[in-house]
Amino acid sequence: MPAVPRKKRTKNRIGKRRASQRLTAPAFTSCPRCHAPKMPHMVCPSCGTYNGRFVTSEPGDLA
Ligand SMILES: [Zn+2]
Repeated sequence: MPAVPRKKRTKNRIGKRRASQRLTAPAFTSCPRCHAPKMPHMVCPSCGTYNGRFVTSEPGDLA
């Protein structure tokens, strides 16, 4: 016999548990150099800079 839950999960308890599960909008900031939207702590995808200096060789080259 497999593991079986001892008690029935009521709709009330399931609803209470799921009340805190919701989607959140992804965080993003704007690049201080080109003002394009970028992810925080990530190299800007449009101008290729991070913390005011160029990180990638080509703009858009994130490989
Ligand atoms: Zn930028």
